[in-house]
Amino acid sequence: MSEFSSAEQAVRAAGIVILGGGPAGLAAARLLHQRGLAPRVLERDASPHARSQGGSLDLAEQGGQLALREMGLGEKFDELARPLGQRLCLMDPDGTVRLDVDESADEYRPEIDRVQLRQLLIDSLPPETISWGAEVGGVTPLPGGRHRVRLADGTHVDADLVIAADGIRSHARRLVTTEQPAYSGITFIHGDLHDPGPESFVARHTGEGILHALGDNKAILAQRAADRSVRVYFAVRTAEDPTRTQGDRFGNSAAVREQLRETFAGWSSDLLSVLDEIDSDFAYWPLYGMPVRQQWAPHSGVTLLGDAAHVMPPFGGEGVNMALLDAVTLVHALFSPRHLTIDDAIAAFEQTMLDRMAGAILDTNAGGELLLSPAGTAPLMSHFIAAEAKPA
Ligand SMILES: Cc1cc2nc3c(=O)[nH]c(=O)nc-3n(C[C@H](O)[C@H](O)[C@H](O)COP(=O)(O)OP(=O)(O)OC[C@H]3O[C@@H](n4cnc5c(N)ncnc54)[C@H](O)[C@@H]3O)c2cc1C
Repeated sequence: MSEFSSAEQAVRAAGIVILGGGPAGLAAARLLHQRGLAPRVLERDASPHARSQGGSLDLAEQGGQLALREMGLGEKFDELARPLGQRLCLMDPDGTVRLDVDESADEYRPEIDRVQLRQLLIDSLPPETISWGAEVGGVTPLPGGRHRVRLADGTHVDADLVIAADGIRSHARRLVTTEQPAYSGITFIHGDLHDPGPESFVARHTGEGILHALGDNKAILAQRAADRSVRVYFAVRTAEDPTRTQGDRFGNSAAVREQLRETFAGWSSDLLSVLDEIDSDFAYWPLYGMPVRQQWAPHSGVTLLGDAAHVMPPFGGEGVNMALLDAVTLVHALFSPRHLTIDDAIAAFEQTMLDRMAGAILDTNAGGELLLSPAGTAPLMSHFIAAEAKPA
């Protein structure tokens, strides 16, 4: 017989370790802290500013925004968010503008820079919650459903509940499933224009939002950030490069520029001038995804959320929204009177999450087909026209 009569009682007495201080892990920590718990977050980065956190994210009203309001961070988000980030310019490879719209008519999805979102969550927690520079090296089961989390520095932490939010290469995934993220066939190479001048064609057409130049199974995708910089992704269907891992910086920018000029040969010289304007290193982002339906084995005292559970390409703009919603769903389940044990609560959370995820993955895959199409801008144009024609 358990010494506790509800999941809430058990979780209040549990040692909770969260792997990873990205959006999912920090959101889970915040929600638990709001309920008087003191989870420990183990984050590999040496500090919040140890590496670039990447581009801007749009948060859906019923996704990330809902989750942040639940965390009591809605007002702070509203102060930081940029509704203008919803503007979209759609362009052919020859530089012809096909569409210039404000997507706000559909849904309110303002943008926030990833670094701002992370800081918002960090600031909502007592500083001692996050152990920076704590790289997890493995997680092994102990008797009684507990787990030992081994750190790269040779120390370890034992936990009654492990919430694994350590992203695409989660160390806890093997405890719940044999499924692994698979390469989507699409790679992004990204670079930044930190201080684009008024003469920059790409920055001008990106405006305060995004530019999608699409053609022949390729895309140049640009996005404005809060600091006025423009992040540019060159998206191609190609084999994965076995010598690199996600996020690797290319040392030789001249060689990358030359390669991209070859890949995008025939595209407008106005568009390709962005290659000379990029003033950062180029970085390698092969995109991975999980199957629409995953099989998870029975497990105890551990769960996965965010990209650890369901990494997907960014075409649906769903990843961070789902990561934040996962944290809300998990913590609701842990505190629901319906669940007698932590494992009951975890099982209910996982069922909801995996069901929700199936739809998000299908939408994301469809989004990838619209953006990287042999027919260029035509499928996305048809999509917009069909959406316009739909009765309200
Ligand atoms: C190019 C690109 C653009 C994107 N654009 C969008 C968008 O517009 N909208 C959207 O919703 N989503 C977008 N996404 C997806 C979104 O960024 C992710 O879905 C989201 O960040 C998932 O959050 P997470 O906390 O689960 O994982 P992550 O953000 O990956 O965080 C995981 C954390 O765990 C830490 N960690 C990893 N390994 C270890 C370890 N061994 N030990 C300790 N810590 C560890 C990492 O340092 C990191 O802080 C994009 C993704 C990419 C690649």
